[in-house]
Amino acid sequence: MSEEIKKTVENESENSSNFIHTFIEKDLKEGGAYYGKKVHTRFPPEPNGYLHIGHAKAICIDFGAAEKYHGLCNLRMDDTNPTKEDVEYVDAIKEDIRWLGFDWDDRFYYASDYFDTMYACAVELIKKGLAYVCELKGDEMKAYRGDLSTPAKSPYRDRPIDESLSLFERMKNGEFADGEMTLRAKIDLASGNFNMRDPVIYRINHLHHHRTGDKWCIYPMYDFAHPIEDALEHITHSLCTLEFEDHRPLYDWVIENVTLPSKPRQIEFARLGITNTVMSKRKLRALVEEGYVSGWDDPRMPTLCGLRRRGYTPKSIRTFCDRIGVSKVNSTVEYEFLEHCLRDDLNETAQRVMVVTDPIKLVITNYPENISETFTVENNPNDESMGARHITFSRECYIERDDFMEEPIKKYQRLYPGNEVRLKSAYIVRCTGCKKDEDGNVVEVYAEYDPETKGGNTPDGRKVRGTIHWVDAKNYKDCTVNIYEDLFTTPEPDAGNFLDFINPESLTVRSGCKAERAVEEFDILSHFQFMRLGYFTIDPDSTKENLIFNKSVGLKDGFKKK
Ligand code: ATP
Ligand code: MG
Repeated sequence: MSEEIKKTVENESENSSNFIHTFIEKDLKEGGAYYGKKVHTRFPPEPNGYLHIGHAKAICIDFGAAEKYHGLCNLRMDDTNPTKEDVEYVDAIKEDIRWLGFDWDDRFYYASDYFDTMYACAVELIKKGLAYVCELKGDEMKAYRGDLSTPAKSPYRDRPIDESLSLFERMKNGEFADGEMTLRAKIDLASGNFNMRDPVIYRINHLHHHRTGDKWCIYPMYDFAHPIEDALEHITHSLCTLEFEDHRPLYDWVIENVTLPSKPRQIEFARLGITNTVMSKRKLRALVEEGYVSGWDDPRMPTLCGLRRRGYTPKSIRTFCDRIGVSKVNSTVEYEFLEHCLRDDLNETAQRVMVVTDPIKLVITNYPENISETFTVENNPNDESMGARHITFSRECYIERDDFMEEPIKKYQRLYPGNEVRLKSAYIVRCTGCKKDEDGNVVEVYAEYDPETKGGNTPDGRKVRGTIHWVDAKNYKDCTVNIYEDLFTTPEPDAGNFLDFINPESLTVRSGCKAERAVEEFDILSHFQFMRLGYFTIDPDSTKENLIFNKSVGLKDGFKKK
């Protein structure tokens, strides 16, 4: 063990909240198969959809463990299922992992690259008398499964080795139809663990595979393939979700009984669930294909590309994954906690700007026409190094429609006739009235400013309760703002048919919003805080002429409140 690793191990074992790290440290320290080895993990997505926040948890655990112990983590496409997997998914998976800040270097693999070896492993098992060709059809196999007090029945179990060898080869050569035969491991028909009751390890499937083409018409089952993939890549710790716990005895059985170059160890952790969303790829695909969202990267989706478009930062997602911890008990995390982690990050890094999303004009009647003043304001009060910018002020500006009430409700501290408010960083103004159209709608608000209150200060110390944001009506940028609410109307959309709980008002598009000029200097996916409104990010569909913002998260912390 290198000095560096030793130190990490010693520091960590004292206060480790991650039980996987505790296991790994024990393995590294105590000798045996792992002693002195480089920790080697892998992330094995099935390339049949985009990665979601649940995958981010697994990625942080897999790549995180490798990073922590100065080891390695492979990226492996788990493509043993012969579906029409798309290059689009493979590319997107790579992009998302890189975006999170992890790197697999040149260790990028496809499980299908090992099909020849897997076939050889199966032949080895047959030759050892540890696997046999079975002719039970699917429903028969089910009927023969037995129960806790009755062992399974398997009439082909004692088939001679030579016969199985020749049938398996003929299966491979395409002589049989789908479902006609399987290859089963010969383990224990009476096992209390049904995964050990002579599980199927190969099935016939006359399907084209996106990488191996029509070379194979038999495909290995996940439980047989995965330990072989891990061992071939010299994985030391194969970290996966809890549903594989009952499959671990089979994983270990394969590792024990097949000749393989290494002996990986499987450790399971709890799957991540989050309120107000669905996480299964099948359901996410349905949302896309049935048009409930605009695509996999719709900002309402829990996919990594959706979250990115919403304005989530890699840091916020990694912090979230760190802080939810790693445990053996499945639990559901509140969506508000994810938002909380984003807000924490953006509070430090987002540039402040003023944007009016439901504009109405405010005319300062005692301010001279045809002049304009410039004020200097900080870009982020939490970070001086982010500098300052200039904003202009003139006789007319835009304010939010709901920052004025002709007849104020109780405790209303913004503009109403006779009341004083602060136009953020500019002046104190006193409302003098408004103009209405024939239908009685307010079309313009009037006020007078106090020239002594430049910068929004009150030299005489008088109290001005309300502060509102504004944008110079002579100097602004028009833009569109997308405001998002929960995609589902219940915290548990999985509890019923999730499509029944779609929130029809999850997206509000506001065009004609007025933004200060600073928003024009942006990179795609730049983050802003629109003062008093929340955090927003530039949508990738934006152009210089047509700026579009997505609301990432509001300012109020719904998590702390609870
Ligand atoms: P889904 O049910 O969404 O289709 P999956 O498990 O079939 O997910 P894979 O592509 O096989 O998706 O997942 C790759 C890895 O990510 C696996 O190791 C899996 O355990 C892990 N993973 C998937 N979903 C979650 C989740 N919600 N929380 C934690 N890890 C997850
Ligand atoms: Mg899977």
